[in-house]
Amino acid sequence: MDKNTTIINTIKQTLPSVTLLENEPMKNHCSFRSGGPVGVLALPADEASLLSLCALLKENGITPYLLGNGTNVVFPDEGAENLFVLCTGAMQSVRLLPGGEISASAGLPLSRLAAFALEHSLTGLEFASGIPGSVGGGVLMNAGAYGGELKDVITSVRCLDLADGTIHTLPASACAFGYRQSRFQNGGNIILSANVLLAPGEKEQIAARMKELNQRRRDKQPLDLPSAGSAFRRPEGYFAAALIEECGLKGTSVGGAQVSEKHAGFIVNTGNATTEDLRRLLTLVHDEVLRQKQVSLQPEIILVRP
Ligand SMILES: Cc1cc2nc3c(=O)[nH]c(=O)nc-3n(C[C@H](O)[C@H](O)[C@H](O)COP(=O)(O)OP(=O)(O)OC[C@H]3O[C@@H](n4cnc5c(N)ncnc54)[C@H](O)[C@@H]3O)c2cc1C
Repeated sequence: MDKNTTIINTIKQTLPSVTLLENEPMKNHCSFRSGGPVGVLALPADEASLLSLCALLKENGITPYLLGNGTNVVFPDEGAENLFVLCTGAMQSVRLLPGGEISASAGLPLSRLAAFALEHSLTGLEFASGIPGSVGGGVLMNAGAYGGELKDVITSVRCLDLADGTIHTLPASACAFGYRQSRFQNGGNIILSANVLLAPGEKEQIAARMKELNQRRRDKQPLDLPSAGSAFRRPEGYFAAALIEECGLKGTSVGGAQVSEKHAGFIVNTGNATTEDLRRLLTLVHDEVLRQKQVSLQPEIILVRP
């Protein structure tokens, strides 16, 4: 924590545009609503302050853990006092470029990016309007739904290389996108912004498609309870939710974590679930599906190590 105390004082003195929260409980920032305090949670107001902050962290040998909207990640119950979490949540700029692409900052919610596309009668992002993550988290996960994935519309990603402090613009072809996969999962980069290219469309049709997909989400998914989205990745040739349901695991609980009664692919927090409850339930479901179906489910939820 000593390192963090020194850096906190320096940031307060030199970077007023970075909001700092000390010993901040991560349950306040993650959609599953679990997780103890981390040493520092920093929220730069914009990209310039993020870059200054990262230069300072690098000088002090601190590697930050990136947080977008916290909808796919959970932190340990006991917290992590030496962890410096950098949240992009305040970086929400979005603009239409002269060539027709949209440039969106990492912290912009995907729902806002989709709404911006609708405003400009551009089609191709309807699938993303109900995904609760940010552009940065969405790019890292290659978020997708209803047959669409971000990789279908992304043309390039700007990122900061944490090792040498350089900024690169990578074409989509260099991002190693796959099913819930990208090169950014190897760590070492902060996604700063992404460009997407959409096609001209009919505003009413785009709005109708978004409405329809969001209704499908409300009908099928347990949106009334905290969760971190799909608990497991889709295994090759199967659907995780169907396997879990066929194994009789719907409604199974560990502490406050429960395999949703509404959609077996989700694990919900029924009240006071801890991250440990979630971890144990993920293991229980994995082991039971392996025993009954000989399929090894891999978690989609990211569990940050203490
Ligand atoms: C109710 C619900 C429904 C969901 N539905 C879907 C769905 O339909 N499809 C889907 O794909 N997902 C879905 N999700 C999961 C989640 O919304 C997506 O994975 C989303 O892309 C995560 O974005 P985030 O900003 O919340 O990322 P976070 O959870 O904050 O972070 C996820 C990972 O990305 C990293 N990260 C975040 N920002 C950056 C950055 N700027 N640079 C580098 N690394 C970064 C983090 O370190 C972490 O490893 C759902 C989640 C919920 C709760």
